[in-house]
Amino acid sequence: MSDLRIAVMVKQVPDPNLVEISEDGRLMRENVPSMIDPFGKMALQHAITNKCQHHVDAISMGPMQAQDVLRKSLEFGADDAYLISGREFAGADTIATARTMAAFLSMRDYDLVFCGMQATDGDTAQVPSELAVFLGFNIYSYATSIDLENMTVTQSYERADVVSKLSLPAVITFMRPPHGCVQIPSMTDYVSALKKEIKVVGFADLGIRMCDTGAKGSRTKVKSVSTIIPKKKSTEFIDGADTVSAASAIMKEVKG
Ligand code: FAD
Repeated sequence: MSDLRIAVMVKQVPDPNLVEISEDGRLMRENVPSMIDPFGKMALQHAITNKCQHHVDAISMGPMQAQDVLRKSLEFGADDAYLISGREFAGADTIATARTMAAFLSMRDYDLVFCGMQATDGDTAQVPSELAVFLGFNIYSYATSIDLENMTVTQSYERADVVSKLSLPAVITFMRPPHGCVQIPSMTDYVSALKKEIKVVGFADLGIRMCDTGAKGSRTKVKSVSTIIPKKKSTEFIDGADTVSAASAIMKEVKG
């Protein structure tokens, strides 16, 4: 199929190796180098690999610094880039984030919305399915590859890979980069990215209500954040020489 319009959602996340959590449970993003969310980058790579005759936009919602990930997306070969930014959006939980981004996407007539399967900071994996609901799109999660010639998508399930016919319009979440994908931008894309403008989209451009976005549009509040320390279990060796007593020792362990 030709001339599809693809939106790739790229989030700016703090470098996970450098970020710390404050005493009140906030991610301390200040002065921490940021990067493009790794799963979002995989979504971008799938879009660029399949680009040919399709149009690819990179879209992010975040503070003005998030322009960096959009500049990188342009360097990787995205055609245009849009940053949804403004103080009205601050404090948005996942549903307010998705509603805001869906308001923008619905104005631009996309056939496909590519996302990462989860972002490495918030990590909820909720935004793509919320986007699909707000847009009224189909959703295909945990995709490992996509074939836009034959309109199929391969999704990874616990026991098997499933190939489905793609029904548009759709949101797709990616969990792996495409096979043999390019890790560095081509010189042509890099140079043409320098001339491109990142368009900033504000609250007034979206036609949404204050009560639907930012902290006011958020239905959840973070009460506390804690680190789960997994309990260490030591390995118990059961002597297998006497199979009957070994089996009963295992049964005792299983039954608790
Ligand atoms: P996931 O659902 O795990 O992301 C999956 C994919 O969706 C990503 O790979 C990407 O493709 C796409 N995606 C997700 N978010 C974006 C985005 N912003 N732009 C482009 N693509 C995206 N965050 C703040 O920065 N400031 C706050 O004040 C703040 N307040 C919050 C308050 C509450 C109560 C909660 C619950 C969250 C708050 N957050 C805040 C976090 C913010 O809601 C999440 O960062 C955002 O909704 C994305 O969720 P996630 O990281 O779990 O994304």
